[in-house]
Amino acid sequence: MEKIREDVLILGGGMAGLRAAIAAAEYNPGVSVGLVSKLYPLRSHSVSAEGGTSAVLNPKDSFDLHAFDTIKGSDYLGDQDAIEEFVRLVPEQIYTTDHWGCPWSRNPDGTISQRDFGALSFPRATFAADKTGFHVMQTLFSRALKYDIHFYNEYFATKLILADGKPNAVTTINLRNGEFTVFQGKSIIFAMGGAGRLYQFATYAHSVTGDGDAIAYRAGIPLKDMEFIQFHPTGLVPSGILITEAARAEGGYLLDKDGKRFMGTYAPHKFETASRDVVSRAIMWEIEAGRGAKGEYGDMDYVFLDLRHIADKLDERLPMITDIAKKFNGIDAHNELIPVHPATHYTMGGIDSNVKTTTSIPGIYAAGENACVSIHGANRLGSNSTNECLALGNVAGKAAAEYAVSHSFPELDMKQIEEEEKHIWEDMLRRDGGENVAKIREDLRINMDKNVGVFRTEAPLQNSLKNIAALKERYQKITIEDKSSTFNLELEWAFEVGFMLDLAEIITLGALQRKESRGAHYRRDFPDRDDKNFMMHTIATYSDNGPILTYRPVVVTKWQPTVRSY
Ligand SMILES: Cc1cc2nc3c(=O)[nH]c(=O)nc-3n(C[C@H](O)[C@H](O)[C@H](O)COP(=O)(O)OP(=O)(O)OC[C@H]3O[C@@H](n4cnc5c(N)ncnc54)[C@H](O)[C@@H]3O)c2cc1C
Repeated sequence: MEKIREDVLILGGGMAGLRAAIAAAEYNPGVSVGLVSKLYPLRSHSVSAEGGTSAVLNPKDSFDLHAFDTIKGSDYLGDQDAIEEFVRLVPEQIYTTDHWGCPWSRNPDGTISQRDFGALSFPRATFAADKTGFHVMQTLFSRALKYDIHFYNEYFATKLILADGKPNAVTTINLRNGEFTVFQGKSIIFAMGGAGRLYQFATYAHSVTGDGDAIAYRAGIPLKDMEFIQFHPTGLVPSGILITEAARAEGGYLLDKDGKRFMGTYAPHKFETASRDVVSRAIMWEIEAGRGAKGEYGDMDYVFLDLRHIADKLDERLPMITDIAKKFNGIDAHNELIPVHPATHYTMGGIDSNVKTTTSIPGIYAAGENACVSIHGANRLGSNSTNECLALGNVAGKAAAEYAVSHSFPELDMKQIEEEEKHIWEDMLRRDGGENVAKIREDLRINMDKNVGVFRTEAPLQNSLKNIAALKERYQKITIEDKSSTFNLELEWAFEVGFMLDLAEIITLGALQRKESRGAHYRRDFPDRDDKNFMMHTIATYSDNGPILTYRPVVVTKWQPTVRSY
């Protein structure tokens, strides 16, 4: 067993984790900063962010406008005090990353260019072509190398250990040699990303399995609003790879199988640039009405994204998706239609935290998609996540460094640590019931796509709960064939599947109990928003008998909920 101590311990090397690491190192060079990641940081999912990062940079725009767009987008579930503070923190991050070398796309006069995005009332998405995440991540990683940040790449976190209500240790497996490694941090930042790979048809990297949410939840830190899963309107069929919203913001149309543009029926003012929940439902209704195309790309029905009339913009402003359409579907977007279908894209829920990034446990912070502040409420606006990673990663890094300065390391809780070590080697690796981890994962994903998707109703949700309970039983009988200690991915997947099963249960239960439709959560049996009963965050707390759900009112400052239309 190896033991490693860092004053500030960051879990996750994506955009939020890297930004936090830089902030902690800058805050106090005397504080040691360690960053643990199951992936090499530049393989984190953040590199695939495409279209842009919203920030108020133009004097004609305003913080109130950005806040209101976010609140309306959230279907009034976002906490307005947090949103008001958040939008003010973002512009500095754009200029800071600009100074660090991020190649933000420019206007002819040299100023940073901004474009429209879904449900924005001002074009405020800054972008680096359609490779925003890639360029921001390269910038952050190069900047991080300037400091003495200790990178622990390819360490897989399995458990958070708390003792006396305080952070004590994080147990990990060093994937390179299988060594059980215990990390201690005086403060710990959770920045382990979302949980989207609970679903089959998803825009997410396969590594996004909700580990951070599940690890925190199992340790007793509540999760918030997990039932709100975003479905992005334009996942490429059949792979699910994202075709960025910027394609519609730059002028792309959605067409049914007969070539008819249909978004005017659902969003008469915004058309294709309505919010994602609205556009995804519109596509699904078109498909249900028999106006979807089918046949050419497997079993999935789809509609078309038409970029032919903006062909002159593709090479400069949308080069990556043009390339993706060509490489994955053999389609030339300049003169052919792209088949698309809604795909799982973002986890609005996460660790119950706030705009200061604190959680229910002093010394533990959360940032990025792993956190639920709540800024995004029931539906995140496109271009509002990468800015959250930057702005609140920065807040978390500083706060965790400040906390570390005034606290000392507790004595390691060896009893709990040894229990986890035993659990890995003497329980997980020795189970011998013959159940296959990958098959359980596949069945879980099929269940979530089918029963907890864009449209939800009581009976399928009940079915989902039953299916998850059965999958949990099968999970107890897994056999991990690979007994090796070098990059034992089967063991890693087994942990990830265990995490996802817990989260699936919380998501389904939250969806079942939320008897209204709000943002991305659409109940066919309760099609209206119910502000009287459900202007509430769902808080899920761990118990041995399953999640306990309680509710907390949303914070409203100056925008009373009204009918939401685009
Ligand atoms: C295809 C796509 C395009 C997008 N485009 C945009 C966009 O244009 N604009 C926008 O604002 N948002 C966009 N988003 C959303 C945005 O990219 C993500 O929400 C954001 O990048 C998440 O960053 P993160 O740092 O929170 O998590 P991630 O980048 O997912 O990083 C998570 C980190 O945690 C580590 N980790 C996870 N589990 C463990 C474990 N058990 N042990 C150790 N380490 C672990 C991983 O190794 C990784 O380093 C897009 C999302 C998708 C799917």
